[in-house]
Amino acid sequence: MTQAVRHDAMRARNLALVLGEVSARGSVTRAALAEITGLAKTTVSKLVGDLIEAGLVVETGVVRAGERGRPGMEVRVSGERIAAIGLEINVDYLAAHVVDLARSVRLRRTQPVDNRMAQPGDVIANLQDLALSAVDEAVDIGLRVVGGVLAVPGTVDLATGTVRRAPNLGWRDVTPLPLPRLPFPVRVDNEANLAALGELWFGAGHRDFLHVSGEIGVGAGLIVGGEPFRGFHGFAGELGHVVVSPGGPPCRCGGQGCLERYAGQDALLAAAAGIEAGAGIAGLLARLDAGDQDALAACERAGWALGVALSSAVNLVDPGTIVLGGIYAPLFPWIGGVVTETLAARLGEMREVVPSVEVSRLGAEAATLGAAGQVIQRIIADPAGLLNA
Ligand SMILES: [Zn+2]
Repeated sequence: MTQAVRHDAMRARNLALVLGEVSARGSVTRAALAEITGLAKTTVSKLVGDLIEAGLVVETGVVRAGERGRPGMEVRVSGERIAAIGLEINVDYLAAHVVDLARSVRLRRTQPVDNRMAQPGDVIANLQDLALSAVDEAVDIGLRVVGGVLAVPGTVDLATGTVRRAPNLGWRDVTPLPLPRLPFPVRVDNEANLAALGELWFGAGHRDFLHVSGEIGVGAGLIVGGEPFRGFHGFAGELGHVVVSPGGPPCRCGGQGCLERYAGQDALLAAAAGIEAGAGIAGLLARLDAGDQDALAACERAGWALGVALSSAVNLVDPGTIVLGGIYAPLFPWIGGVVTETLAARLGEMREVVPSVEVSRLGAEAATLGAAGQVIQRIIADPAGLLNA
């Protein structure tokens, strides 16, 4: 290794070290950073200066007394210049959220569209249109989007970005990448895993939990010690295809009696009967508010099925908390109780403590936030590339 390469590698590592500490601590002075990292103060000042120039860090304006009374100004991660985009292709909508480096959501764009009937190429073209308009709007508020992650409701080969199976989209071995019209790199990941990461980074602050995404399909993401558990092939969390009733209705996956056939959005709306096509979850919520018996019974049945599937998940992986997101967030008042009761009835003899069942504050946004959050995590972990750009 030449001296210049060694110097570049060390600078990259130190930039990551300093930015990581600024991000973890919220705001901190250069003197405190030198103490925390063990780097020389002049080195820290140069690194912070470079991070400020690149728009990753900004001075807060707050001055703190340092050692020997020498005051220093605090710095924090800047939300003013660099941003990430979280993209989502789901069965009945497309979404694009722009999140700045300080983790504030700056733009939300959602387009209701039925992607089941469309060719994958058309869906991907529509997604690029939505993403490009969000990126243009971001420029108008001074933000440069530097990367994106695309959430899809299916199993994803992370190395190639190929969507192996997305039965509710009708996709099999579809590779959405590259997205040539977007001026930054994009990766693809599973919607339910990203929703769990969204909950980790933007939600209630749990570090060990199972996040359940209710959509047309039902996905789950397990977070253990602040890290996602993806399984050996990366396909863990297909909760929607956990069998609730072996002789139950057939499922798109080829099985029978899967959770999705009781608690997925289509199954719920069909069970509630009489909800106008297109009214969706809003139609169901209106009926629930009015005390409609069919709607209440559909939620009761979905909650029971969720409780049955989750009791298996709890026996297998023992999560600290269960967070219900996606459509289960607005439906929580009608399903949360029966899920908890079913869990208690099925697990109470086996264990003293049954995991608490909570509602996600992020709802349907969790996956796009997790997607944007993943880009932000990568920038914080390795900012050198942006400084050289
Ligand atoms: Zn299934």
